[in-house]
Amino acid sequence: MDDSSTKITETTNSFEIAKQQLQIVADAMDLNPGVHEILKRPQRELTVNFPVKMDDGSIQEFTGYRVHHNLARGPAKGGIRFHPETEIDEVRALALWMTIKCAVVNIPFGGAKGGVACDPQKLSSGELERLTRRYTSEISILLGPDKDIPAPDVGTNGQIMAWLMDTYSQQVGHTVPAVVTGKPLAIGGSEGRVEATGRGVVTVAREALLASGGQLPDSRIVVQGFGNVGGAAAALFFRSGAKVIAVSDVNGALFNPKGIDILALQAYQRETKTLIGFPGAEPIPTEDFLTTPCDLLIPAALQNQITAANAPHIKARFVIEGANGPTTPPADIILRENGVTVVPDVLANAGGVTVSYFEWVQSLQSFFWSENEVNSKLESIMVKAFQQVQAAAKRHSCDLRTAAYIVGVSRVADAIQARGIYP
Ligand code: GLU
Repeated sequence: MDDSSTKITETTNSFEIAKQQLQIVADAMDLNPGVHEILKRPQRELTVNFPVKMDDGSIQEFTGYRVHHNLARGPAKGGIRFHPETEIDEVRALALWMTIKCAVVNIPFGGAKGGVACDPQKLSSGELERLTRRYTSEISILLGPDKDIPAPDVGTNGQIMAWLMDTYSQQVGHTVPAVVTGKPLAIGGSEGRVEATGRGVVTVAREALLASGGQLPDSRIVVQGFGNVGGAAAALFFRSGAKVIAVSDVNGALFNPKGIDILALQAYQRETKTLIGFPGAEPIPTEDFLTTPCDLLIPAALQNQITAANAPHIKARFVIEGANGPTTPPADIILRENGVTVVPDVLANAGGVTVSYFEWVQSLQSFFWSENEVNSKLESIMVKAFQQVQAAAKRHSCDLRTAAYIVGVSRVADAIQARGIYP
């Protein structure tokens, strides 16, 4: 991890990208060099190699990670990703982004992330459960409701969080709902958590449009990814009267210039497990998808989707980052030069961890809120964060990513400085 010379260059290494972003903000806000050094590296990282008994009787070895980036503002918080390409630098970047994200929305957590290199689509339900339980057991030295609270991310869901909660609870000998968020309602999950990230994306999209004299109804929207984030966001956009003209998932992309009936598409996807063949839109090549002319482009899949190669051809007014790390730093520069406003991941997709915070509070208190309470508290946090980031962008004459980092990094720096360096 030699990071003495951070230049803005195109790379697909997410941790290099995160450090480039940190460098940009350090220069913009004159960050204390000692604090910058602290934030360049995760506080602690655990790599675990562990066996899982497969259905055919064989034993397969898996590698997983849990990284705590910075704990100055509170216990470690962040999702767990199950994906074939998950590796340590990706998890480090995602953990760093969680530190910034929690600080941008001002919730009392430090940043963490975890992951297992595996393809959950290729595992049976039994294999997935055994993998989840063994991984949980391997990282349990880090976990706890006041230490480290995981949540879903790419490739994981409420069921996996339920297995995690049960495994941890079996180990400590009593039920501990607050050790994980994004769990099912039946075991202390929160109303509104499943769609919270998508709801937050729509809220900041609306605020970004309003700030430029626009509005959601009749805006043309392109959503990449139709999972927990993209699917929920598309449905809320559709309900708000916006026109979702194109959507995609790993299998392909759909286009309808008059707007796609997202509720019908969700029903089709539930039934067929794919978007392909939906009668209410035309298939389009995935290569052309991100360059579809639109008002709002919502990358809500994986990292490194908007790069120096395709950024010059993006024809959106706004990019609202539902995914973590969808835009590379050189692409950011190109978009800015072309007048495309990027609302960064650490702000745009912070609705998920915000409702995770609400879920954690409810689990600790064993006192539960209605969906309306959750949604209205989420709305006020997202709007406030958007306004604070926008004010920082004006103050520093910078783009929204740099502004969001200035807001987030300042809060983390204040916490580090208030606590002091031990011993
Ligand atoms: N995985 C989500 C994210 O990247 C949610 C994390 C959480 O709720 O802890 O923000």
